[in-house]
Amino acid sequence: MTNQLHRETLLASAGVSADRAHNSVAPPLHLSANFYWNDPCEKPEYDYSRSGNPNRTQLAEALASLEGGARGIVTSSGMAAVDLVLNLVDPGDVVLAPHDCYGGTHRLLTARAKRGHFKIVYVDQTDLAALAAGFAKKPKLVLVETPSNPLLRVTDIEKVVGYARQAGAIVVADNTFLSPALQRPLDLGCDVVIHSTTKFINGHSDVVGGAVITKEEELGEELAWWANCTGVTGAPFDSFLTLRGLRTLFTRIERQQATASDVVNLLKSDSRVAKIYYPGLESHPGHEIAARQQSGFGSMFSVEFTDEIDVLELLRRLEIFTIAESLGGFESLVCVPAAMTHAAMTPEARATAGISNRLVRFSIGLEHGEDLARDVLGALDGAVADGNVTYLNEQAVGACA
Ligand SMILES: *Cc1c(COP(=O)(O)O)cnc(C)c1O
Repeated sequence: MTNQLHRETLLASAGVSADRAHNSVAPPLHLSANFYWNDPCEKPEYDYSRSGNPNRTQLAEALASLEGGARGIVTSSGMAAVDLVLNLVDPGDVVLAPHDCYGGTHRLLTARAKRGHFKIVYVDQTDLAALAAGFAKKPKLVLVETPSNPLLRVTDIEKVVGYARQAGAIVVADNTFLSPALQRPLDLGCDVVIHSTTKFINGHSDVVGGAVITKEEELGEELAWWANCTGVTGAPFDSFLTLRGLRTLFTRIERQQATASDVVNLLKSDSRVAKIYYPGLESHPGHEIAARQQSGFGSMFSVEFTDEIDVLELLRRLEIFTIAESLGGFESLVCVPAAMTHAAMTPEARATAGISNRLVRFSIGLEHGEDLARDVLGALDGAVADGNVTYLNEQAVGACA
């Protein structure tokens, strides 16, 4: 029966009316570090919260069913999820990752590779020749992240999986930017999905968390063993809150992406907009792949403004958008990647990645699209450089990084 239910229904009923102690409808919160044994010879279902906890199990099972996986593991952060899957490789093995992966992931992969834990190869996975060259190095594990941050480059997941099958490599997809509501990498052949649940999954910007979901039980067992062994499992209260946020995932994301599309349409013809990066636009290079492998275009977009706009001034003048990193929450956020999320990259690396100083990233929340578009257009009016204002040049980036 359960397998035939729609995912919205699974989410609404996850952990509901499962309480055997007091018949509570909403799942109770089990903060206890340990659980008592009735008899020294009868190990209870849960004995110690690092190894297992009811709130974590409820969230893990909900996430596994959403992604179509056999096993879910809840971790303390998205980075802990990335690090957990790195237990699958040995020294000498090659890890193939996108050149424009999440900054924290890039830092972790580079630092671990430097210590000799594995070899790291970065390629532009949207470039098929570069992808083939990467696979020629015979990777053991391939990380995919699509759409990418902040330019929303779209990688063809099935292409990567095809190469990986030939190479015998494990494919891990970071599905943070879309969530299982809009993309299901396991259905496209990936072995593992990871999430920063901090973003769309929780959706309320009040928990940092992560998750790993495996297609097969066996790999799930192995990673669950490592999660307990290394202690990267998520906290009960975080799991409780994340499941609470997750229940409205479909409702939130449908509204957020509809609003994002409205805002993009209201901005795209403005003369001060040089370029909009949004996979929903037919002009986006990844549009066709996105239309095929995603069930929606998401609620993230980036805009490059013309050089008459002082983008730092633009951000200061926004009234509804909050200047902050992160994404996927109920509140609309704005950032200048060159000065904020991607400030640690060298100017050369940013140039190679195509991240200009006039690029602004927007994460659309649950506000009304007309208010959001009016906020941007009004701020643009006051952000036209009048000759005395310095544009966001390297010096300005340095000053605010
Ligand atoms: C935020 C993010 C991470 C890291 O997650 P944390 O929860 O911040 O540790 C990893 N991948 C992507 C794509 C992210 O956006």
